[in-house]
Amino acid sequence: MRIGVFGGTFDPVHLGHLRVAEEVAECCQLERVIFIPSGIPPHRRQPETSAAHRLNMVRCAISGNANFSTSPVELQRPGKSYTIDTLIKLSQAHPKDEFYLIIGADQMLKLKKWYQSEQLFEYCRIVAVSRPGTPLQAIQAKMAADFPASILSLISFFRVSALDISSTKIRKKIRHQKSVRYLVPKKVSQYIELYHLYQKD
Ligand code: ATP
Ligand code: MG
Repeated sequence: MRIGVFGGTFDPVHLGHLRVAEEVAECCQLERVIFIPSGIPPHRRQPETSAAHRLNMVRCAISGNANFSTSPVELQRPGKSYTIDTLIKLSQAHPKDEFYLIIGADQMLKLKKWYQSEQLFEYCRIVAVSRPGTPLQAIQAKMAADFPASILSLISFFRVSALDISSTKIRKKIRHQKSVRYLVPKKVSQYIELYHLYQKD
């Protein structure tokens, strides 16, 4: 079985994430996409909301889609969340499956700096997706400069619908009492309202 692995802070998950998962699943014939919220992200400032809230929002977002699932694997592990550890765990649990790690263009630019970035390719292929602000050509050029040909052959570059949505923008809108309707799934905005998330400065 081909399984997509989609990591992120998901603070909160939004329609940009869901479209990426949907389009990659379709084009790469993935039977499942697992959304994996990161616990303590190694490369960025800490999330604004707790791991439990971020996981619950992903659950709200994917409910009703039998091909999407989520895993608390990075939230349960103490210390920093390294993708390599997650992939090792997943491949041990599912030795017969093939993993496709889905990464947005902005994150791809930093791939070389990830912990054990070259070892990642022992466990998965990478699907790099376009994102407004970072052209695919820019990441293709960066990957060619950063990695040898043997690794480049394991990276696919894929143009997805350009949705200029980010969690940062959503958090800012909520802080300024602006609507986030049609940027996040309805169940996610209901969850955010219920727990009064992202309202403080
Ligand atoms: P933040 O603004 O807090 O960084 P974000 O919108 O970038 O949030 P993340 O949780 O950081 O969301 O992203 C998880 C993954 O999804 C990353 O690989 C990121 O590049 C990708 N991604 C997020 N939003 C989009 C989008 N609109 N189009 C394409 N890829 C996206
Ligand atoms: Mg981000």
